[in-house]
Amino acid sequence: MNCIFCKIINNEIPSYKIYEDELVIAFLDISQATKGHTLVVCKEHYETLFDIPEKTFLHLMNIVKKLAKDIYEKTDANGINILQNNYLAAGQTVHHFHVHIIPRYDEQDGFNPTFKENENPNLDEVFNLLK
Ligand code: 5GP
Ligand code: ZN
Repeated sequence: MNCIFCKIINNEIPSYKIYEDELVIAFLDISQATKGHTLVVCKEHYETLFDIPEKTFLHLMNIVKKLAKDIYEKTDANGINILQNNYLAAGQTVHHFHVHIIPRYDEQDGFNPTFKENENPNLDEVFNLLK
């Protein structure tokens, strides 16, 4: 399979691994959106949140929590974002499930996840759709 993360997992291409167990691996994101930007990746190839089995997902998220604290402390960051993209429309570029850990330093640190405020959101319509 032509998947860059599977190649990293199989040691076919190098990476800076900071954690590994039987189900997940964590390595530095090559882009370093901010200093310490890390990816936590399941070892099995699942494409999205809807594909990953619950047991693997729960284990992976526990590792995200542990690593996020460790990274937050070691980088002396002032905040931390956890980001997970699914499908192209949401910005997923590598189609192998992964979670981003992004340490934050200040508003000018190169990463901007702020939400645009809609002027007139139709909350009734959305509620009727989702309830
Ligand atoms: P996505 O946009 O799919 O949520 O995130 C994919 C991430 O994978 C990007 O932040 C990108 O920088 C990272 N990435 C892509 N190719 C490589 C690679 O070969 N090595 C590493 N370490 N990260 C990669
Ligand atoms: Zn893969």
